[in-house]
Amino acid sequence: MLSEPSGRTRVAAVIGDPVHHSLSPAIHNAAFAERGLDWLYVALPVGAGHGADAVEAMKTLHLAGLSVTMPHKAAVLGAVDRVTEEAAVLGAANCLAWEGDRVVAHNTDGPGFLDSLRAVGFEPAGRSAVVLGAGGAARAVVHALGRAGAGSVRIVNRTLDRAVDAAALAPTASVGSPEDAAEADLVVNATPVGMGRPGGDAAARPLPAGVLSSGQTVVDLVYDPVRTALLAEAAAVGAVCVDGVGMLVHQAAHAFGHWTGLEAPVEVMRRAAERVVAARG
Ligand code: NAP
Repeated sequence: MLSEPSGRTRVAAVIGDPVHHSLSPAIHNAAFAERGLDWLYVALPVGAGHGADAVEAMKTLHLAGLSVTMPHKAAVLGAVDRVTEEAAVLGAANCLAWEGDRVVAHNTDGPGFLDSLRAVGFEPAGRSAVVLGAGGAARAVVHALGRAGAGSVRIVNRTLDRAVDAAALAPTASVGSPEDAAEADLVVNATPVGMGRPGGDAAARPLPAGVLSSGQTVVDLVYDPVRTALLAEAAAVGAVCVDGVGMLVHQAAHAFGHWTGLEAPVEVMRRAAERVVAARG
């Protein structure tokens, strides 16, 4: 935002419950300031069952864009004017943007994940991947890897049924086991294991010790702490590490692009996210 809100200030927001821990206000307000936009981004707590109301409110209040988090990612799909193919396949949206006078539901998690990989020079085409978890984040990752032409995607999850469901999202995906991680070019943690807050165990690892090796690229979608126990082990064996702030910032960069039509200042957004995580201690 420019120095202070004016009658012309455009407002974007994240809706969800809870939202008070969201890093999105810091990330997007830093981007708006960097691009000299008179825009403001706030976090709006919206309770379960009110996702469709929030889409109507976006139209009534002329909000410039919405980020969508739990528990509304599926519910908003039925209330918008158009759903992108990606959001439809995943059954979840994380970004609502205007297309003329219509509200469109996007899912920017997959494209953001791929950008975070490409930022370290990893191109998934023809490569082998293991994805730990089969929830919303894992599904976006599996789908994105499939679209990017990954040679194989093995899904390892506590609940078998969910792994089977996620495997349907990519032509080369199948259900795997933790041992598969030893042979994979890419290992992605898409479970909350290793998350420090709220009430998590930052020392926990989603894989047994000794599985990772140099030559691999290891991604942890957990971003608090930024350097998780899994990434510490990956770095110690010489693997390339991608932290969860990478996907977080790149999915936000896609949202920024959908809302403003401008290229997002990714490095500024990343520094804003890191500052908030560091300030939390
Ligand atoms: P979700 O939909 O609730 O899915 C969680 C997944 O983790 C499920 O597959 C679940 O297995 C598994 N899981 C949960 N606790 C586990 C445990 N103790 N041991 C083994 N597996 C466990 O959550 P989500 O939205 O996918 O988020 C997953 C993680 O990714 C969270 O830490 C979230 O903060 C992070 N995330 C990061 C970004 C980013 O941009 N960096 C974006 C989205 C999410 P079951 O199926 O057996 O329950």
